[in-house]
Amino acid sequence: MTEFIDLKAQYARIQDRVEGAVIEAMRGGQFIMGPAVAELEARLAAYTGARHAISCASGTDALVMALMAKGVGPGDAVFTVPFTFMASAEAICTVGATPIFVDIDPVTFNLDPKALERAIAALETADPSLHPLPRLGAQDLAALTPRGVIAVDLFGLPADYQAINAVAAANDLFVIEDAAQSFGGMRDNVRAGALAEIACTSFFPAKPLGCFGDGGAIFCDDDELAMVLKSIRVHGQGSHKYENVRLGLTGRLDTVQAAVLNVKLDIFDDEMEQRQRVARAYATALAQSGLDLVAPVVPSGYQSAWAQYTVVARDDAARTAFQQRLAAQDIPSMIYYPKPLHVQQAFANLGYREGDFAVSEEMCGRVFSLPMHPYLADEDVRRIVAALAA
Ligand SMILES: *Cc1c(COP(=O)(O)O)cnc(C)c1O
Repeated sequence: MTEFIDLKAQYARIQDRVEGAVIEAMRGGQFIMGPAVAELEARLAAYTGARHAISCASGTDALVMALMAKGVGPGDAVFTVPFTFMASAEAICTVGATPIFVDIDPVTFNLDPKALERAIAALETADPSLHPLPRLGAQDLAALTPRGVIAVDLFGLPADYQAINAVAAANDLFVIEDAAQSFGGMRDNVRAGALAEIACTSFFPAKPLGCFGDGGAIFCDDDELAMVLKSIRVHGQGSHKYENVRLGLTGRLDTVQAAVLNVKLDIFDDEMEQRQRVARAYATALAQSGLDLVAPVVPSGYQSAWAQYTVVARDDAARTAFQQRLAAQDIPSMIYYPKPLHVQQAFANLGYREGDFAVSEEMCGRVFSLPMHPYLADEDVRRIVAALAA
């Protein structure tokens, strides 16, 4: 039986070590901010090259905390993509700010820096003819203050931060890297987590580095920002426990989850190599198959973390046929994402409409993801591609 993401195979590999680490954490009795948390944070910082790694309760909390640390709130606007997981835009609304959606590049599925420039210009002049804006009253729109960008490294491939950081800097905007799917990815030997001013990742079990529940981390180089993030993590704590200098939340990562992650980090480099091997096997098999499917493109200088292996069918009907052929052979496949965020009911108050972001909408109708994990054999990959062609 082919698994979409094989966490059981991974567990079998690390069972003794991970169970030992969890028991040790439990016997230690420091369930909150125990020694495994500090160890993990040091290792995460060393791995990514970021000066600070601040663990937290989830990838969503990481985004919310980053926005809180930047002082984002009502009246502020933050640019992000509609072709992503809910949390990327949800976090902006959680702090009371307004998401301004920007379409993606059709090849990388990541934020299109040219579209970002147009969106910034449109918001500055409150002119929706330059770029689709939320359909708020003219006054509300003009009152919005552009503050930052959340770029997403979709499916594990880092976005084009060279271009995005430049556009943001020219417009006095901060950049947050949503690296929830890209931990282990890189560009020009700079790892995801260190590609923008702040990066947020997730340790949800199905992500490239996952724990046994919810978890996340925030990365940054700035000492002051790191201090604020640590304060936000515990109710805006000041210099002692019952002094509160700002609003925060209960945003900590459990010691037990940190213990799990420390064991998983020991095998992470090998797992990342295995993901590259599986991706190469897919690319070869798909090219040889002659199937009418677009394989994922990794531009030169980039490494994807391969959170997902996502292919593009000609249209929705062709996609359904491919998925049915896989299902007939008990091979799972998934659609990430079937509906773009700008037309989700949760954002209905922003007044976006179908047609606003053509590339995101088209991709929602054409993409599907194949099984991808480090324990997939080349032979399994060939069988999956053969099933697509059956
Ligand atoms: C998973 C994910 C998140 C949220 O992470 P959680 O840990 O589930 O809260 C945010 N952004 C993207 C792109 C994700 O894939």
